[in-house]
Amino acid sequence: MFNDVPGQEKVKDLFARALRERTLSHAYLLSGPEGLAKTAFARELAVALVSTCGGCGICPECDRARRGVHPDLHVVEREGDLIRFEQVEPVIADLGLKPFSGSRRVWIIPEVEYLHSAAANKLLKSIEEPPDYVYFLLVTDRLERVLPTIVSRCQLVEFRPLSDTVVASYLRESHGLDGVAAEALARLSGGAVERAERLAGDAQRRADYLRHASAVAGLAPGVSDPDSPAAFIGVLERHQKQITDEAQEKLKARVGELERQFQDKRDLNWYTKKAEERARREESRLRRVAAQDAVDLLGAWVRDLWVVACGASDVLWNCDRAGDLAVAAVATPDYYARLMAVVARTRKDLYLNIDQKLALQALFARFEEVAESA
Ligand SMILES: [Zn+2]
Repeated sequence: MFNDVPGQEKVKDLFARALRERTLSHAYLLSGPEGLAKTAFARELAVALVSTCGGCGICPECDRARRGVHPDLHVVEREGDLIRFEQVEPVIADLGLKPFSGSRRVWIIPEVEYLHSAAANKLLKSIEEPPDYVYFLLVTDRLERVLPTIVSRCQLVEFRPLSDTVVASYLRESHGLDGVAAEALARLSGGAVERAERLAGDAQRRADYLRHASAVAGLAPGVSDPDSPAAFIGVLERHQKQITDEAQEKLKARVGELERQFQDKRDLNWYTKKAEERARREESRLRRVAAQDAVDLLGAWVRDLWVVACGASDVLWNCDRAGDLAVAAVATPDYYARLMAVVARTRKDLYLNIDQKLALQALFARFEEVAESA
């Protein structure tokens, strides 16, 4: 079990022990930074909880649970900006039903920080005193934004960023990367294995971002190319278009499945609408993550220029690009620190859902201002 989730040994031990000793709590809150595979973990755990086999991972029941079509496993995802009262109401009404196959029923609520307070109030009593067979697995990247009344009723399980060594060896084993490349991506991922996988999945994109970034005014004194900000943004736009295309492909396949499954027009429409909403949410999440990754790569490059300027080249994140960085870092640490502040501000803008292209254009304009005032 949990083979797909690297690291997090403490968390795995905790649940293995609770299952063995039958001391499982009825409500857990899985918390920690983005990219640590918390929701993937919750799904794996839920498969083990609802399957009569205990989660062998190969039987038809495990397969059903994994594909999200097991009657005892439910996922409540936000619709738009909230998890609404109307979404929680049917959950509560449903809790009285005994398990269909095994001995447990599980509800997973990812992004529980989006739970509307009315929905939370409705849920509280059930989380506190659920029927014996009911389990809640709540997940959040932002514990500080989860309603305290929810937090206090759950057992908190903290996921921690992995060490560079663990991420690097995972990348070497599962993605076949060589030593210094794996090390660089591990450092760039900040211990978040999903981010490391995104980086490993497309090495060319990182190379493109860095090529354009290193010719941006303010980062490349004397050799800057005025087209490079637009080129940098172009890499992101191509990536986002690919995300949209893939989302549409996936949705089309899903709708095809539904058409085969449901003959009743009303059922079909309802499930199709749900599938479309879900596809839209996932697409917009992936587009946002792509923009954040782009800014993070740029930020890591600036941070490394600062590191070289400080004379501490042994702690580079882009350690596979040490030569380029050594040539490029011609300004003072103070200068790069000012650029790092610009990047930090953009990260915050993206988090606040400000238009991604505008946010990046503003970032490059501010870089230029810093360069001109230096
Ligand atoms: Zn099984």
